[in-house]
Amino acid sequence: MASTLSDRLSRLVKTMRGQARITESNVQDMLREVRMALLEADVALPVVRDFIARVKEKALGQEVVGSLNPGQALVGVVHKELAATMGDGVSDINLATQPPAIILMAGLQGAGKTTTTGKLTKHLIERRKKKVLTVSADVYRPAAIEQLKTVTKQAGGEWFPSAPDQKPHDIALAAIDHARRHYFDVLIVDTAGRLAIDEALMAEIRDLHATLKPVETLFVVDAMQGQDAINTAKAFKEALPLTGIVLTKMDGDSRGGAALSVRQITGAPIKFAGVSEKIDGLEAFDAERHAGRVLG
Ligand code: GDP
Repeated sequence: MASTLSDRLSRLVKTMRGQARITESNVQDMLREVRMALLEADVALPVVRDFIARVKEKALGQEVVGSLNPGQALVGVVHKELAATMGDGVSDINLATQPPAIILMAGLQGAGKTTTTGKLTKHLIERRKKKVLTVSADVYRPAAIEQLKTVTKQAGGEWFPSAPDQKPHDIALAAIDHARRHYFDVLIVDTAGRLAIDEALMAEIRDLHATLKPVETLFVVDAMQGQDAINTAKAFKEALPLTGIVLTKMDGDSRGGAALSVRQITGAPIKFAGVSEKIDGLEAFDAERHAGRVLG
């Protein structure tokens, strides 16, 4: 188990004892430790560089240089900056539109889109008192359509049937029509993922977005994804105007550095964290708490 950033910095500061004050070069050494800690948490390298540059500016201000306990002061600066970067207080689904409010789920295969669709359905029914319809536009995997049916039932929502011989575009239109005629407040559209980014997938989801005009386009990403998260996030951001992020599998043992990478690349707020495979395993994302986890 790697030692925490706090431990590392206090060890480093001890070796500086005897030097009259903390200088710019001392801070540089300390920032190297911060960099290591972030890389160990699997934050992507370019994101780490940007982040360190911002922290350096703050550390060289009054906050660290000249303070009695520079190690602690720097941990404070890093923690504050991490929490500020990852969170912006926007945590729930935006439903401020003419019903049905449409939510488009985007992400790689296995990221947790279908599971999260079930969790969101439950959340919107129980917490927001909404009437929710789900539909799957994954025409490549009949099992995915069945899986959505199962989780929607568990959540107490309604599921709109779709079939592998239909086009995603036609499924979307039929589902909107059904949602309108039956006065649903929300329609959640689950989509096909691939194991890796490919152009056909991106073209398909762009087309779906144009048809659906969703109020929320959620990027679902696995917190365990680590360094790769940055490429996935870039591709989805280029394809779609993302309005929020759901970080899944936060119950795993990763330090969750993907949160910082994905947030910085997409600029979209991290709205929810998936914390189990179960239908109620969804929490509002807590940036303060997550900053502590990333730093170890
Ligand atoms: P999709 O291909 O994006 O629709 O992904 P799925 O919803 O099918 O999820 C893929 C796998 O990840 C399934 O085995 C889910 O049970 C699991 N999963 C999804 N979200 C979470 C989570 O927050 N925690 C855990 N432990 N497993 C999750």
